[in-house]
Amino acid sequence: MTKDTLHQKAAAKFREAFEREPAVAAYAPGRVEVLGNHTDYNEGFVLSAAIDCGTCFIAAPTDGTTCRLVAGDLMEMATFSAERPTPSRRHSWANYVIGVVAGVGAMQRRPKGFDGLFLSNVPLGAGLSSSAALEVSAGMALSALHGVTPSALDLARIGQRAEHDYAGVKCGLLDQISSLFGEPDRLVMTDFRSLKVETVPLGTDAAFLMCRTHARHALVDGEYNARRHHCEEAARHFATVLPHPVTALRDVSWAEWEQHRDGLNPLAARRAAHPIGENDRVRRGRQCLADGNLAAFGQLMYESHESSQKYFENSCEQLDAVVAAARQIPLVLGARLSGGGFGGSAVVLIHPRDVEVVSVALQKAYQKVIGHPCDIRAIRASGGAHMLDVTAPAAAS
Ligand code: ADP
Ligand code: MG
Repeated sequence: MTKDTLHQKAAAKFREAFEREPAVAAYAPGRVEVLGNHTDYNEGFVLSAAIDCGTCFIAAPTDGTTCRLVAGDLMEMATFSAERPTPSRRHSWANYVIGVVAGVGAMQRRPKGFDGLFLSNVPLGAGLSSSAALEVSAGMALSALHGVTPSALDLARIGQRAEHDYAGVKCGLLDQISSLFGEPDRLVMTDFRSLKVETVPLGTDAAFLMCRTHARHALVDGEYNARRHHCEEAARHFATVLPHPVTALRDVSWAEWEQHRDGLNPLAARRAAHPIGENDRVRRGRQCLADGNLAAFGQLMYESHESSQKYFENSCEQLDAVVAAARQIPLVLGARLSGGGFGGSAVVLIHPRDVEVVSVALQKAYQKVIGHPCDIRAIRASGGAHMLDVTAPAAAS
């Protein structure tokens, strides 16, 4: 479904649900993490992309402070107060928006009520960040409705806060930043120390296959916390042995890791190698893209996955099966796990003309090892969140 079709459908559903015309509409895409795994909380770098599916959020103001919110895909409605946005127990999906209402509301004196509806073509929970697409599209549309003008980073923080405080998910800022700053055929490079964001050319010869495994490690939260803990422990060690300031693993080079790893407990040393190596790969990856060398970039993706396997141990049998299958297909340029790991999805870099043939070959090889299929979806690096013209769908239909 194209963005225009999504917008038209959302507008039609809005009119049907509320029997009135929309006043504002915004679109925000999902995202894919391409290189730089577990680097965000180590104050390092990530290369990601906004993708060609997203969420459309439409709204119109009401006189009072009551908000009526419809999840267009589910055709369920939640109501809440704009003055006292509190998490909903009944509609967990509404919490992402209620949190955004709290964030946008904090920017003005008198929060106003609205009728709102959203519709998405991002698969939920597939590692493509449908949650950020929802928060960012809601944040943009509701800011316009209320006449406030948060910066893109403000919007990203409003989304993150919504996710932390209302949905109970302790996410970083990568998802929201990617959704906001994406550009067609470019990757978003984020520095998680300065929050400086730039885009680098990927070109039109690149597409991604997102392979969702449906695997999820039972103890994923505990594993994640343990990884963070080891990274912090390692940073403290390097701060004592290196002559320059170290506040996070971002400040440690690969050569320094090799030289000083022995003074550290072996497990923490191994864990630290992953974000340190990833930071280095992101910097090299950016150069590969500047040189137009997608093949070399793809090799860095494979190295990233090897590092996950060897050092961070955040892969699993299913993700390894995708990457091993990808390696056997000469048309594939690179592959790695994407996101937190311990299950979830792997991302595969290919030429757009090879989508069909590689998807079939990957699926076949994956099934042979795992015994059932994975979900494969082709995605392209696409433009970021923006407002939509509310008069357009009416004219088109
Ligand atoms: P991801 O962000 O990777 O897709 P999350 O678990 O972070 O996975 O977010 C998915 C949740 O976001 C869903 O379970 C739902 O509560 C909410 N959500 C996002 N988009 C929609 C949508 N279009 N309709 C209903 N709920 C949505
Ligand atoms: Mg999410």
